[in-house]
Amino acid sequence: MGSKKKDSAAGAPLSELLRLPHGAVDMASLDARATPGYPGKGKEDAPVHTAGLGRRLSDLQEMLYAGGRAAPEVSPRVLVVLQGMDTSGKGGVIRHAIGLVDPQGVDLTSFKAPSEEERKHHYLWRIRNALPRPGQIGIFDRSHYEDVLVVRVESLVPEDVWSTRYDEINEFEAGLVAEGYKLVKCMLNVSFGEQKARLAERLADPTKYWKYNPGDVDARKKWPAYMEAYAAALEKCNTEAAPWFVIPSDRKWYRNWAVAELLRETLAGMGLAWPAADFDVAVEKKRVAQS
Ligand code: AMP
Ligand code: MG
Repeated sequence: MGSKKKDSAAGAPLSELLRLPHGAVDMASLDARATPGYPGKGKEDAPVHTAGLGRRLSDLQEMLYAGGRAAPEVSPRVLVVLQGMDTSGKGGVIRHAIGLVDPQGVDLTSFKAPSEEERKHHYLWRIRNALPRPGQIGIFDRSHYEDVLVVRVESLVPEDVWSTRYDEINEFEAGLVAEGYKLVKCMLNVSFGEQKARLAERLADPTKYWKYNPGDVDARKKWPAYMEAYAAALEKCNTEAAPWFVIPSDRKWYRNWAVAELLRETLAGMGLAWPAADFDVAVEKKRVAQS
């Protein structure tokens, strides 16, 4: 904006700033409090920046939707994958960032522990069933990555099973991209300390009890094992076709702005256009005037 650039990275697209580099991943080195690319001062002006973004995001989403209506067979689809530890803010992102667009254009799915029916199928079965329709923005609140995260940490299947899933996921995602899906995989990176503060907040406020799950503390006790599983998923599934973005999430205002901006950049880069009329505009103008 008008302010002077703070560093050489200022002005670079967020998709570059938050893109996980190829190679070994060390979770401890990923700063959860950072605010890369944020154009304003901080928390105080985040609502204004995020709202401004909302208007542009909304126009782009409408164009995507219109394209899906006009030509479903060739219409691009967007799939945002949200992963992160408990309290990292998957729900907050859905409310504050995805909530900026028309809910009619959003296909939202929250993945819980698989149901009895789901357990009868391959783990990607329920994922395929939840893919966004043409012109829609699909949101996965948790995803197929749980099948190499909680499943790995809790040994829900043996290692020789989960260890083959990284390649399988890469193949699956490459197939989606080849079919015209645009994937935006976001890892909401919350620190161990901030998670504790957020859990404590939930217990200090009766209106937040519903968000508290005693099981979250058990998962917290396995933090190192989860970080190891996250590092493996990020490292092994960080492909050209479907790269990972790591969103610093200790500051909620940054996290929400960042996912909204990442989505805006994604849509803006898709070469979307308003569909042409499939009727004679001049003729229809006359008909309306005469009606
Ligand atoms: P929440 O997102 O807080 O509603 O919690 C959903 C729960 O479902 C989390 O504890 C996840 O670990 C769990 N979950 C999601 N997917 C799977 C999966 N494929 N296998 C086992 N547990 C899962
Ligand atoms: Mg939870």
